[in-house]
Amino acid sequence: MSKIGIWLINKDLRIENNILLRALNDCDLVLPVFIWDEKLRRSSSNSRIASFYHEALNNLSEELNHFNAEILIKSGDSEVILDYLKSKYNVHSIYTQFDVDPAHREFVKNITKKFEVKLLNTAYLSDLNKTLKDDGTPYLTFSSFSRAWFRNEFDIQYENAPTKSNFLVSGEMNDFSPPLNNTPFKANKLFGNKRLSNYIGNNLLNYNKFRNRMDLDGTSMLSAYFNSGIVDIKGSYILAINLGLDNPGVKSWINELLWREFNAYIMFHFPEIIHSSFNNKLSSYPWEENEDYLNRWKQGLTGFSCVDACMRQLLDIGWMHNRGRMIVASFLTKDLFINWKEGEKWFMENLVDAETASNIGGWQWTAGSGVDAAPYFRIFNPITQGEKFDPNGTYIRKWVPELRDVETKFIHDPSIDNGIYQYPKPIVSHNDSRKKALYIFNSLRN
Ligand SMILES: Cc1cc2nc3c(=O)[nH]c(=O)nc-3n(C[C@H](O)[C@H](O)[C@H](O)COP(=O)(O)OP(=O)(O)OC[C@H]3O[C@@H](n4cnc5c(N)ncnc54)[C@H](O)[C@@H]3O)c2cc1C
Repeated sequence: MSKIGIWLINKDLRIENNILLRALNDCDLVLPVFIWDEKLRRSSSNSRIASFYHEALNNLSEELNHFNAEILIKSGDSEVILDYLKSKYNVHSIYTQFDVDPAHREFVKNITKKFEVKLLNTAYLSDLNKTLKDDGTPYLTFSSFSRAWFRNEFDIQYENAPTKSNFLVSGEMNDFSPPLNNTPFKANKLFGNKRLSNYIGNNLLNYNKFRNRMDLDGTSMLSAYFNSGIVDIKGSYILAINLGLDNPGVKSWINELLWREFNAYIMFHFPEIIHSSFNNKLSSYPWEENEDYLNRWKQGLTGFSCVDACMRQLLDIGWMHNRGRMIVASFLTKDLFINWKEGEKWFMENLVDAETASNIGGWQWTAGSGVDAAPYFRIFNPITQGEKFDPNGTYIRKWVPELRDVETKFIHDPSIDNGIYQYPKPIVSHNDSRKKALYIFNSLRN
């Protein structure tokens, strides 16, 4: 009897150098399946990332046509769909990508009772269980993790992984139809790989100088491609390293790839952080509920021009600069006192690069509750952050068009200008919020 295996596509939307496809050469027939399961993805099928995936899957399916194959694309409960496929096609095994998301790990545990499951790590640079302290426990600071990582894992090998599989075409109907991807991030490998080579060729060596400037194209904007696997993270790491780690731009970019790795590492070792603050002292932080403030934050109508520019960039293109993510996360948690989980949820729906480990990591870092988090007294001032990282207000003018004609000396704090704009006054006083946040943090520490 033929051995039928499912390639259960997760966040590995590519054929080239996908070691799962090489492993699937063990099967007589391969059925490529993708399931948008909201429980596992933590983003709805109307989210930005669902649209991005839908476009990417259609492109990947077209590529697979050259192998006389196509992807069965479904939405719903993964276990129910897999049970159905097992009974109909006599599926023997499932080959899928290792994922640190706790819900995904639980799912893998469950399907292992019914199928032979082969799990491979294609999402991260390294084995997350390898970089440990001498006593076998995980590192809790990024700096100690990255030092140890460079000692043990630095030399990553590129794995050539051709597919020779024979594919099974099921004839089942696809049923995943999110809205069209309307972001500038085209979900195909040509676009992603071109962006990578342009970035490495033209900008990488200056990454350290411009990475924090919101008004410049200083960063790669590759996160959605890495997180979906359209662009291979290992291959990209090797391309960058080959330019020489002694170059400050390369070193700084690799450092950010390692932050991605560190977030995954922490989620792997401490899965509970998905629901709760890593820092227990902050678990009783007196979060406030304020629908009006939350909505103004979401829509970019807080009256803080830098915060509003960032939030409108997110609404418009499904992506936000890392500096902006820190500013708006600090603003939500330390100026508006709204629980970081609300912001995390909004990001999962609206970011084209939404990814659980980095999103939870970023939110908990900024809120001050995460592993190796920003110190509690680090409260971003939304006005001075704008002055520093968007000095001429170019970024603000781009995303908040009603401030286009404001003079540069007023652009970061339009409330002090006497001009008449259709733009809200600040919804809170940053100075008052800052004092209140420090008071709360101090009382929780004692
Ligand atoms: C509150 C908050 C939420 C975030 N949510 C996400 C998320 O859902 N998905 C996501 O991929 N990143 C998230 N980040 C991390 C970071 O903002 C993005 O990865 C980065 O902005 C992507 O832009 P880029 O591709 O131009 O990055 P570059 O600056 O070019 O960096 C290269 C790559 O390194 C990784 N990287 C860069 N900065 C970080 C970082 N601080 N943490 C982890 N990885 C990093 C990304 O994979 C990125 O593509 C979040 C950060 C914060 C503060």
